[in-house]
Amino acid sequence: MTTAPDLQLPSPSNPDPVLLSGALRTIIALFVIIPPLAVVAAIPVAWGGFVGWTDIALVLGFWALTALGITIGFHRFFTHGSFKAPRAIKITLAVAGSMALEGPITQWVADHRKHHKFSDDIGDPHSPWRFGTSKRAIAKGLYFAHMGWFFDEPQSSIETYAPDIAGDKDLNRIGRMFPLIVIGSMILPAILGGLITWSWMGVLTGFFWGTLVRIALVHHVTWSINSICHVFGTRPFTSRDQSSNVGWLAIPSFGESWHNLHHVDPTAARHGVLKGQIDISAFLIRRLEKIGLITDVRWPKPLRLATKLKDPAMAHRIRGYAAAVAAAKAAPVPAPVA
Ligand SMILES: [Zn+2]
Ligand SMILES: [Zn+2]
Repeated sequence: MTTAPDLQLPSPSNPDPVLLSGALRTIIALFVIIPPLAVVAAIPVAWGGFVGWTDIALVLGFWALTALGITIGFHRFFTHGSFKAPRAIKITLAVAGSMALEGPITQWVADHRKHHKFSDDIGDPHSPWRFGTSKRAIAKGLYFAHMGWFFDEPQSSIETYAPDIAGDKDLNRIGRMFPLIVIGSMILPAILGGLITWSWMGVLTGFFWGTLVRIALVHHVTWSINSICHVFGTRPFTSRDQSSNVGWLAIPSFGESWHNLHHVDPTAARHGVLKGQIDISAFLIRRLEKIGLITDVRWPKPLRLATKLKDPAMAHRIRGYAAAVAAAKAAPVPAPVA
């Protein structure tokens, strides 16, 4: 696949000259291709009795751990600074996110911050609108935004977009340890499957479900935010890009598919801000805040969000809107300046 030449040119404002080496591309290709094959095989394999409760627990447990490492950790905390956390939580989130096998934390944050900076415009590393607006161009763009960009897009500059992550001793070390974390994330489900069932079959099915199927699920749900959530869905808020809300992805993406709101208010810890919009990541951030493990959470401000709605009549659907209006009315009016 080729990309528009003007998007590849490094410039002072877009200094991303580093293309991936052939060997790294091959490794990424293996990680992109093999897990989905396991998903295709999963139904007949399960039908054949090649699945037990341990396997289901492994796939769900490792999915939740690693996907939340991405949504709460890599995305809301490290990229956007939606809350503050002590060192132990920081390290836990960084390792859990790295276990999702979506690249080292430094690169992930750099790519995602660049996505927000250029969002669906020239410079966005993975816009589905890159090739145009015809049906054919969008089909090509959807594939590119989903996973094609891993192979064709120059790497976003960590120096420019994630100096804080690279400059943090712990995070830098975790970034450099990424290959080891990948190996750990791949063999841990197999080890647990073997230990729990005390059988070699448990090792095999643990690897199949807890590693291969889980990686495919985590990857494709994350990638859908870059592809589907910039093309399909609804756009209740005014954003300068094509980001959209996709309800059916809300639960598997742990709340990340309320992507239209996220582009309007990127630092907010909650993305599902309208009533009824399930956001599991925000729910868990709230629990962590309540028990005092994290602080300074940036919760969205209902009155501010209301000004961003395309249809002001929808304001009552924003969570906490009525209470915010009542609080604003009850607040003492500041005395006029003499
Ligand atoms: Zn986006
Ligand atoms: Zn973001």
